[in-house]
Amino acid sequence: MTRIHNFSAGPSTLPTAVLERARDELLDWGHTGMSVMEMSHRSKDYVAIAEKAEADLRELLAIPDGYKVLFLQGGATGQFAAIPMNLLQGRPSAVYVNTGIWSKKAIAEAKHYATVKIAASGEDSGFSDIPPETAWTIDPSAAYLHYTSNETIGGVEFQYVPDAAGLPLVSDMSSNILSRPIDISRFGLVYAGAQKNMGPAGITVVIVREDLIGGAQPGTPSILDYRQQAENGSMLNTPPTYAWYLLGLVLEWLKDQGGVSGIEAVNLRKSGKLYAAIDQLDFYSNPVAPACRSRMNVPFRIANTDLEKTFLAEAKAAGLVNLEGHRSVGGFRASIYNAMPEAGVDALIAFMAEFERKHG
Ligand code: PMP
Repeated sequence: MTRIHNFSAGPSTLPTAVLERARDELLDWGHTGMSVMEMSHRSKDYVAIAEKAEADLRELLAIPDGYKVLFLQGGATGQFAAIPMNLLQGRPSAVYVNTGIWSKKAIAEAKHYATVKIAASGEDSGFSDIPPETAWTIDPSAAYLHYTSNETIGGVEFQYVPDAAGLPLVSDMSSNILSRPIDISRFGLVYAGAQKNMGPAGITVVIVREDLIGGAQPGTPSILDYRQQAENGSMLNTPPTYAWYLLGLVLEWLKDQGGVSGIEAVNLRKSGKLYAAIDQLDFYSNPVAPACRSRMNVPFRIANTDLEKTFLAEAKAAGLVNLEGHRSVGGFRASIYNAMPEAGVDALIAFMAEFERKHG
């Protein structure tokens, strides 16, 4: 068996130990003689699997009492709609910070339900920087403030939790949840698709403060209504049982890595050395302001774009795959989530130096 280094932005590499355990348990989970995939979501065994995942997530993120954790379908994109549907609660507007492509998508969806007020936009800098908080405009009558804590395509990450000026703070943490400690008590709602840092695609985590639950606007589909999902333990309908189980295995693995502070140290080392290489080698550049460079998604370019195809082909031959940038921006992008081993980053840096030596 050969496992290569997969720098995909999502779905992305999973810890090998997790996949091996899933393989070992595939046909017979816990001497039940059946696969987790074959279990009723109402069975005692499955409910225990689901509850263990929630308990581990609460422990890893130190989620305080007074927050519900929901395991939903529809991806982070589903939440782009569910958030205004549940949180507007009669108010006409919501405030969004625009830091790139994923913010824009959240904004576009919210516009179906709310007047969207932009607190600040990174558009003038080509989304290579986050406007300073002192320059944000936050309407105090809005329902909430939304921001994207890590722009997966642009490689722009907040290194701090913004001040929402008294509004409930809502964050799309799809691409950096569990990569560093975070103070959940600062938030009204945090959401994330699982397919980058938590597991396979098909399951979305929503952590929501209880006082924000219960005011969904009339016509909200039941499966998007936080109250109905919370009252039913996220099992209003059949949940994505296998994705939930795998998410639980990833959380157990993360606990073995020393939890979020343990993995943060590794993430700082991995991203730190990759940016250092990009800055030091003449051949490569990263456009993002150093203060908001993402630890998870590292976009980079080479001046001679004619060499891009060669770079990707030679990288692939060296066992380094999915390094192409998002189709909307081009260039390259290395996604180095929690499950990317440090050896993968070391191999990429060595490859980049060698490629420059050969083609520079
Ligand atoms: N937000 C961010 C920051 C993302 O990176 C993505 C997926 N790449 C999404 C939202 C959309 O997630 P999903 O595909 O789960 O709807």
